[in-house]
Amino acid sequence: MDSQSLGTDTRPVRIAIVGAGPAGFYTTEALLKQPNLVCSIDLFNHFPTPFGLVREGVAPDHQSIKGVTRIYTRIAADPRVRYFGNVTFGTDIKHEQLKHYYDQIVYAVGAQADRRMGIPGEDVAGSLPATAFVGWYNGHPDYTHLDPDLAHERVIVVGNGNVAMDIARILTQAPDELAKTDIADHALAKLRASRVREVVMLGRRGPAQAAFTTAELKEFGTLQGVDIVVDAAQLELDLHSAALAAEDKLVANNLAVLRSYTAKTEHAATRRIQMRFLVSPSELVEQDGRVAAVRIEHNQLVADDYGGLRAKGTGRFELIETGLVLRAVGYRSIPLQGVPFDEATFTIMNIAGRVVHPMTGEPVAGEYVAGWATRGPTGVIGTNKLDAAATVTAMLEDLPNLTGIDDNQRDPALVEDMLRECKPDYVTWNEWQLLDRVEVERGVTQNRPRVKVTSVSEMLATIAQQRTTSAEHRTTTPANV
Ligand code: NAP
Repeated sequence: MDSQSLGTDTRPVRIAIVGAGPAGFYTTEALLKQPNLVCSIDLFNHFPTPFGLVREGVAPDHQSIKGVTRIYTRIAADPRVRYFGNVTFGTDIKHEQLKHYYDQIVYAVGAQADRRMGIPGEDVAGSLPATAFVGWYNGHPDYTHLDPDLAHERVIVVGNGNVAMDIARILTQAPDELAKTDIADHALAKLRASRVREVVMLGRRGPAQAAFTTAELKEFGTLQGVDIVVDAAQLELDLHSAALAAEDKLVANNLAVLRSYTAKTEHAATRRIQMRFLVSPSELVEQDGRVAAVRIEHNQLVADDYGGLRAKGTGRFELIETGLVLRAVGYRSIPLQGVPFDEATFTIMNIAGRVVHPMTGEPVAGEYVAGWATRGPTGVIGTNKLDAAATVTAMLEDLPNLTGIDDNQRDPALVEDMLRECKPDYVTWNEWQLLDRVEVERGVTQNRPRVKVTSVSEMLATIAQQRTTSAEHRTTTPANV
């Protein structure tokens, strides 16, 4: 790099990262670790609170996973990093504004919307996507008022992934156990009054094709007062599935745990999770404007075009009564203003992390994507670290050929000027930490990791109140840039 190149002392590269969840933080971390890169990074986030999926998606009874926020907090403490929460890309700040102030932009917006089943009755009252239900128990401000109907004894959860497992656990676990977590207060109160006794999980393919992981499956067996009901006949494998089990350790381990659950045939616990395989919902049956039952079709496995096995209906149907259906059939990203989007894969159009033009397939100069918006919602939190590294590699490769912004737009203070105009109630990292402290302190008295504030207005009011008492000032511009 010559001295006039971007990313040097004379022209520190200005980088905006949209989304302060795992992908945003891992991208930041990978950039900060570059020994020869001189950069300053601004993280923009929709909610005042950072951490995305870790705060709003990871189940509250998985506190150890949430411990990763300590790493993110260390990353945010780097003087080259600023945080602007409560700023929504596309509405509060536009694509063209970011292009004006940043040499490189990374979209790390995750996958916040739900996939659909595409069956009759899907939108009837009492049918909810996992995005909403998970958001509700995690204190996601958009779902505080969801009020799911827990007055019926049976809930149907569609899907065989880890999100379905999370939901089944939260619905059946003893509320006193959940009361030790950071579950949203409104959800805890509702779960305490819940009349749900049975969660039926519907997997459209067989046990060998289930998407859940063995640790989560084993965890079912540790739930106090909950029977795990698996019919041994459902674990009989066709030839292809048996071959899969022989060569794939995860599949073999899952089957071993499932078999251990079949050993118990007396089910006297007050709550149960029934795991069913090779069944798909074909219709949600409505009565008096609400879901009353799910019609399911029994499936068989047939070869698909990619060498795998897909579910095919057999024409044999069954009706299961229920008052609540939760579809945990996967998440999807949503299009961002001014950013090419692939409607078939629900991802930002990209090649290996570089955003590409929809027509030409050529990279859009200075624009990148990381995390679920790149590749779809797969893998665990740590998976984002790997593709953040790949995205950063592309960013570094491009630097020598990037024209970059006008040097008179390079002063980081200009971004704060812009935000004071278009989003005056943006939230800085210090301000988030004031809110964080309040949440944690509220938790201490209840022996909980934190008590979440679950509305944006209350978040802002809490910050304002804390700022007054602590005389906190908005000093966001790092000293070294
Ligand atoms: P997922 O792992 O992709 O699972 C989706 C499930 O829905 C699959 O069983 C899929 O079946 C099924 N499905 C899809 N469309 C369907 C339809 N139309 N009808 C019936 N079933 C349908 O997605 P996820 O559970 O949302 O999880 C997203 C990612 O987050 C995953 O990588 C997951 O491991 C991760 N996660 C991890 C944890 C954890 O580590 N504890 C917790 C939560 C989430 P097919 O296989 O047949 O397509």
